[in-house]
Amino acid sequence: MKLTVLSGGVGGARFTRGLLAHLARTAPGSQVTVIANTGDDMWLHGVRVCPDLDTLMYTLGGAVHEEQGWGRREESSRVSADLAAYDVGWEWFTLGDLDLATHLARTQWLREGLTLSEATARLSARWRLAEQGVRLLPMSDQPVETHVEVDGGLIHFEEWWVRHRAALPARRFVQVGLDRASAAPGVLAAITDADAVLLPPSNPVVSVGTILAVPGIREAVRATRAPVVGVSPIIGGAPVRGMAAECLAAIGVSATAEGVARHYGLRERGGVLDGWLVDTADAATAELLAADGWRSAATDTLMRDVPATARIAAELLALAGR
Ligand code: GDP
Ligand code: CA
Repeated sequence: MKLTVLSGGVGGARFTRGLLAHLARTAPGSQVTVIANTGDDMWLHGVRVCPDLDTLMYTLGGAVHEEQGWGRREESSRVSADLAAYDVGWEWFTLGDLDLATHLARTQWLREGLTLSEATARLSARWRLAEQGVRLLPMSDQPVETHVEVDGGLIHFEEWWVRHRAALPARRFVQVGLDRASAAPGVLAAITDADAVLLPPSNPVVSVGTILAVPGIREAVRATRAPVVGVSPIIGGAPVRGMAAECLAAIGVSATAEGVARHYGLRERGGVLDGWLVDTADAATAELLAADGWRSAATDTLMRDVPATARIAAELLALAGR
């Protein structure tokens, strides 16, 4: 089976890990392509930081800080502490010492002229992703950075998210560089040739929304013969973690399982989805969507651990008819 996942960081990485566990048992030899959001990327201390790619790589490579959901386990922050003593950089954005090695390696390769896709493939090799049947692709090789319009102008998404904890009212999100960006090699083919395209419970605005905004990607998702199905990141009117509600508010979408489904839209009516898996807390939404022509079902969608997440992935594949 060939599956393609459009992923942000923590939500997408946890989902993909569960999907791989499910496939290892039921469909060995399957190929999973993960198309990662790179809208959160930035230059910091002279290195290129790609938060969502790295969260995916560490999670699928078995090196993630489990409770935190991102970064390396057994991490330290001596370099960041010393940088703070020089009063440089963003003191609210810590780069772990082990994590810095990733950014240094990537930056060295980018400086040598490799594309982000090529650098990502080299980083992924160390974490043995191919041996698990996973290919990790950035959405684009051109830099696209999400900025947030707040009172006083535009700030980088990470500054709004990490420094201000999404507390500054956001007027809109702007993807700087989008007009010069194209889908990375392999991205459009992975969507077109998939047996199913999966939207994990990633942030619909600044993770999946940014991927879909890359020229050609939304069109490929709309045109693929594969079923396109997703898991709601909203359970009972609230995101499970993170600040997706603030992002949805900024674009005028209600933070409910139904609001997000309608925002993505049904493919036969111009949207990107055929099916939507919601939590049992939102069972009424599943019924409502089913009556309106959607493939929809309700199940426990809390990604407590790998077995629970593997079961969610199995339910999503069932919704896709795979
Ligand atoms: P980020 O880039 O690290 O913010 O991660 P993503 O965009 O991939 O995922 C963030 C989203 O995952 C949040 O909006 C949460 O609502 C959602 N999420 C996190 N954990 C769970 C879970 O256990 N179940 C469900 N359904 N959604 C979750
Ligand atoms: Ca992210």
